[in-house]
Amino acid sequence: MAKTSRAAVVPKPSADLVIEEYEIPELQPGAALMKVARAGVCGTDCHLWHGKLAGVPYPLILGHEAVGTIESIGPKPVKDLDGNELKVGDRVGFHDVTETCFSCYNCLIADAPTKCPNRKVYGITMESTKFPRLIGGYSEYLYLSPGTHIIKLPDHVSFDGASAVGCAMPTAVHTVLRSPMTWGLNVAIQGVGPVGLMIAVLTSVSGASTVTVLDKAKNRLEIAKKFGVTDVLNIEETTLDERKDKLKEITGGHGPDIVYEATGNPHAIPEGIELVREGGSYTICGQYTDHGTTEINPHLMNKKHLDIKTVWGSRTLHVYKGIKTVGDNYDRFPFEDLVTHRFSLDDAQKALETQEKQVSLKAVIQPHGD
Ligand SMILES: [Zn+2]
Ligand SMILES: [Zn+2]
Repeated sequence: MAKTSRAAVVPKPSADLVIEEYEIPELQPGAALMKVARAGVCGTDCHLWHGKLAGVPYPLILGHEAVGTIESIGPKPVKDLDGNELKVGDRVGFHDVTETCFSCYNCLIADAPTKCPNRKVYGITMESTKFPRLIGGYSEYLYLSPGTHIIKLPDHVSFDGASAVGCAMPTAVHTVLRSPMTWGLNVAIQGVGPVGLMIAVLTSVSGASTVTVLDKAKNRLEIAKKFGVTDVLNIEETTLDERKDKLKEITGGHGPDIVYEATGNPHAIPEGIELVREGGSYTICGQYTDHGTTEINPHLMNKKHLDIKTVWGSRTLHVYKGIKTVGDNYDRFPFEDLVTHRFSLDDAQKALETQEKQVSLKAVIQPHGD
C-alpha cells in the first residue's frame, strides 16, 4: 500500500501550482482513503486559484469533484448513503461538503443548511498544512474524513461519466428544485457551461415542453443539442430584441415560464429579467463568485410580477439525486462525451489554464494516468 501521496498545491493566490508529496495519515475510525481516478477541474477552481473567494486558506489542494475507488478503510466500518457498508475496491463519489452542523440558526431555523457557517468543503475551505492534509482531489489519494457522505457509483456509470457532471449536477439539481419546474413548461437557460447543461438535462427529464439555451460558445451550443435542448440562441449573432422575439415564437407568444441564469456574468441578469414571461420565474445560480455589479431596472421586475430566486451551494440530497439522474439516463444523454481534456497531476497547472480559457467542456486530472 502507498505510504505517500503526491498532490498539486496552490501555494498562494495566482501562483503556479507545485507538486508536493505528503505522508498518507493513519485512518481515524469512520475515515476511508480514496484512490483518485478523476478530479474534475471546475470553473470555481480557476477562481480559487486567483484568490477570488473570501475565507479560503492557502496553501490549498484544489479539487472538490473527485471520484475513485476505496483504497482502505479505518478501524470502523464506513457506510454509503444507502446504508450499505463500503468495501475496498468500491467505486465512489462523495458530497464535497462536510460538517454541516444541523444545530445552528441557519441549519435549524432559517432552513438554509448550505449557509451553515460550520461547513467545510473539500478542495476549497480546508488547509493542506493541517491533518489530514490530503483533502483536495488534485492528489493521488484523498482522505475521506469521518462523516463524509459517500455514494457508490452505479456499475454502468464510468469514472468519466460520473466526473463529467462534477459539482455542476448537484448545483443544477438544487437550482431546478428551487424553481417551480414541472412538466409542460417552457424553459430558457442563460449559459450552457456544465451547470447550464445539467439544468437542461434535469428540465428535460422533468418534462419541459421546450428547453432553449443562450450562449456565445458555438461548441457548447452544438453539444447542448444532445442533452435535451430543443433550441439554441447564439448571443453574439443575435440582438436582445431578436432573442426576445425568438423565445416568444418558441413559447406560443408569451416567453419562457422559467429562465435559469448559469453564466457567471453579472450582465446576464438584466437580460434574464427581460426574457422571462410575465408572472414567470427567474432563478439565478451562476453568480457563485463575485464578478461585480450590473444595472437593473427594478420596475421591470415588479411590473412583470416575477418570482426571483437564487441558489447557494448544494446539499447531500442534490449530489445523491444527481448521481441517480446520471445513472437513470445514461443511455439517453452522452455524459462521457463531456470530458474533452485529460491531464496528469504534473500538468495540473495546464489543466487550470485550459479550463480558464474555456476551450474544454470538462477537463479532468487523472493522478494515476488511467
Ligand atoms: Zn449549521
Ligand atoms: Zn465545482
